[in-house]
Amino acid sequence: MAHLNVDIGGSPGINCRGFCEYCYFKKVRGVQPLGCRYCLPFKKGCDYCTRGVKEEYNGFKDLKTIADETLANLQGKSGDLERITISGGGDPSCYPRFGELIELLGSMEAPLHIGYTSGKGWDDPSIADLLIDNGLSELSFTVFATDPALRKRYMHDPTPEVSLAILDRLCESVDVYAAAVILPGINDGVVLEQTCEWLQDRGAKGIILMRFANSTEQGLILGNGPIITNQKVQTVESFRDLIWDLNQRFSLKISGTPLWDPDIGSPFAILTEPDLVKKLPRVQRRATVISGSIAAPFIEKVLSSCGSQVPVIPVTKEIACLITIDDFRKLDLSTLEPVVIIPGRSFVHDTEVQEVLFKDGIEREIIRGPDMLTADAETSMGMTREQVLEMEMDGFADLIRTINRYGR
Ligand code: SF4
Repeated sequence: MAHLNVDIGGSPGINCRGFCEYCYFKKVRGVQPLGCRYCLPFKKGCDYCTRGVKEEYNGFKDLKTIADETLANLQGKSGDLERITISGGGDPSCYPRFGELIELLGSMEAPLHIGYTSGKGWDDPSIADLLIDNGLSELSFTVFATDPALRKRYMHDPTPEVSLAILDRLCESVDVYAAAVILPGINDGVVLEQTCEWLQDRGAKGIILMRFANSTEQGLILGNGPIITNQKVQTVESFRDLIWDLNQRFSLKISGTPLWDPDIGSPFAILTEPDLVKKLPRVQRRATVISGSIAAPFIEKVLSSCGSQVPVIPVTKEIACLITIDDFRKLDLSTLEPVVIIPGRSFVHDTEVQEVLFKDGIEREIIRGPDMLTADAETSMGMTREQVLEMEMDGFADLIRTINRYGR
């Protein structure tokens, strides 16, 4: 079974009919490369951490380029085409020849997925039938709120009623996963309840709520915070409680990022499965594992259950995948073992992190750990609990093998 990804190009905000008020790509200007796992050892900065992170591309690709690339990719696949996913830096609904694009991909007669759209580029209600007729089977749609005035004000959707009418129609025949960045005082409270109810009544599969981040610690690593001056931000705990509460009151699947997917119990669902934890390898050596401040206590619980006696050290950055070199600079080096395992996807250049962690004169060995130890709600939205547990087992087994291989 083959899966085809169709990248339509474009840049967030630029190819989105203007920035949504809360867009994390707003105010990003010429940031220096951060360094990452793909960089060469002698050079900080590669295509991924220079352009890919900012999703900085030269506008949408033209339709002919997309058709040529799709054909070339297709020739490299074998077996039946299981699905076609439309992705890109820009918003697919704003693609100028959207109708032709969908007809082109529809002619391949495989289920279509739209990985992300705000819908604010759709001004004609007949788009819904075009999508259904051409095999759309799954859609992730940023709704923000089902109050058209709020969509207009915060997403700058020029025709919010039409976008919502399309969403309404799609909910009838397509697996719709809605999404909303939650701005406390704007689209939470009663507005959020009405949004959940609207989606539930129409048959959406779920809604994923995203806690708004407005500072570097919360995850803005492109030097562009605050995104909205004076905007209130929820703590991780109050956000998790909000998800629990809504999840009990609606049958629609409700999950949140960074915490929580109540149906699955993730992230770190493995903590509720002691028999699975017992199947993990035992930790036999010492190494410091570094993580983000949200994940660190969970990781510590798993590792200590497997015999580790070394504390997991959190940095101030909340999300492990968004750790940058500044987070390492703030660490108390006296708390670190001679071997340090950093999150696989942290945005640091290996040479630079060595320089920072050798500052006290102790030469430490720095190792990149696994890319993922769990699934956040964006990842777990279409997954079963078993799939998430399998992913966590694989991630932790890999982490423990790394400790046992390099540790002292
Ligand atoms: S649609 Fe998404 S990427 Fe585009 S401006 Fe809005 S938040 Fe940013």
